Amino acid sequence: MMGRLPFIAGNWKMNKTVGEALDLVRQLKASISKVEGVEVAVAPPFTALYAVQKELEGTTIKLAAQNLFYEEKGAYTGEISPMMLKEIGCHYVIIGHSERRQFFGETDETVNRRIEAALGQGLKVIFCIGETLKEREEGRTFAVVERQVERGLRKFREMEVKGIVIAYEPVWAIGTGKTATPEQAEEVHRFIRGRLEKLYSREIAEGIRIQYGGSVTPENIKGLMSLENIDGALVGGASLKAETFSKIVRFKEM
Ligand code: PEP
Repeated sequence: MMGRLPFIAGNWKMNKTVGEALDLVRQLKASISKVEGVEVAVAPPFTALYAVQKELEGTTIKLAAQNLFYEEKGAYTGEISPMMLKEIGCHYVIIGHSERRQFFGETDETVNRRIEAALGQGLKVIFCIGETLKEREEGRTFAVVERQVERGLRKFREMEVKGIVIAYEPVWAIGTGKTATPEQAEEVHRFIRGRLEKLYSREIAEGIRIQYGGSVTPENIKGLMSLENIDGALVGGASLKAETFSKIVRFKEM
């Protein structure tokens, strides 16, 4: 794995009140705060970020937000700026999740602007890409992923790209219980790393972590993590319970 530290992140999506979020994070602290050799982050909804950050102080579990807007401030009702996230202790921000692309009109161009704004504030980015079922069935997986990588990372230099983690999430596998087989995932991860090498350099491509996302569970994590180009997971449904998320984080012990 060329020394890439495995990275498991939980995307809670639009789940958990503040009270529920604190319950979950307290359980996670008890079960995974001593796990070594893996980086862990949780992405609660905006309303719970501040409280969760307070609870995470002194632990190695990092805080992530699920989105941001690219402007610094102003008349953008309902939006959250990079600085607001940085101020409350967010380390990561998820950008370009397929649900944002599908339901909220996010495009490769707005994803690119969001990444730029996040990096400008010193936030690290989990940049999501992935093909729909239709695109896969039409044999366009590689073309779609290539376009998303090239446009999403447009204008960024090597220094900036170092602050990015890519999450390959085939849309047909998100929340459906259908995981890509380890071979299907590895094939796309290898392709993405190859594109990064062409766009930047071998050194950069080898250093960037590529997570897999899409119905990751305690049952399938080990197989996925055994592959050369899979460096972690972005976990939705299974991150909502301490028991399942902890098992995923502890994949090395299985
Ligand atoms: C996700 O939302 O990033 C995700 C992968 O969800 P799930 O694990 O529920 O498929």
